[in-house]
Amino acid sequence: MQFCTQCDSKLVKSRNGQKCPKCDKGELEQLEIQKNNEKKASIISSENFPFEKGSYYVQKDVRKKLNCGIMSGINYNQEGNFIVIFMNAHELNKQETNPYLDRYDSETGLYHYTGKGLKGDQTLTGVNARLASSTVDGIDIHFFRQHNVGSNHEYVGLVKLEKVIQNLQPDEHGKSRKVYEFLLRPVE
Ligand SMILES: [Zn+2]
Repeated sequence: MQFCTQCDSKLVKSRNGQKCPKCDKGELEQLEIQKNNEKKASIISSENFPFEKGSYYVQKDVRKKLNCGIMSGINYNQEGNFIVIFMNAHELNKQETNPYLDRYDSETGLYHYTGKGLKGDQTLTGVNARLASSTVDGIDIHFFRQHNVGSNHEYVGLVKLEKVIQNLQPDEHGKSRKVYEFLLRPVE
């Protein structure tokens, strides 16, 4: 442990070496401001979003870069205060392996995205609630869409929640249950 030669205070570690919290106060504050600014700059926002609209990406890489979970379709990034959605392609006839009936309605131009919850009736809690209140809360929703099974995801860009509806869909055991469908419109 080191002490200040001028005031005998215990020295603290900084990125510029050992400093005295009393004598080097101004310098330590400057370092703290600098550190916070760097941290802010590293937080992903719409301005520095690392993916390009219309380009295709490996889902795993997107998840890692945007701090998403490994599996979840709807992801909330707390630091950047945005939502990331992955829509996967369906293998027709194999519905039991993918109980979410997500689809794009070309007539209305809306994505129908099923909420989270594989079993039983879905509830408006967790990420479902976050998505449902995204318009009020001003949270950006970034949308990634897989067009074919096994292929990379297209970054569709930002979408806006237009409506939440309830529907009946079979769950992972084929049993009918209530789900929430989020109707999402791409932002031009
Ligand atoms: Zn000192």
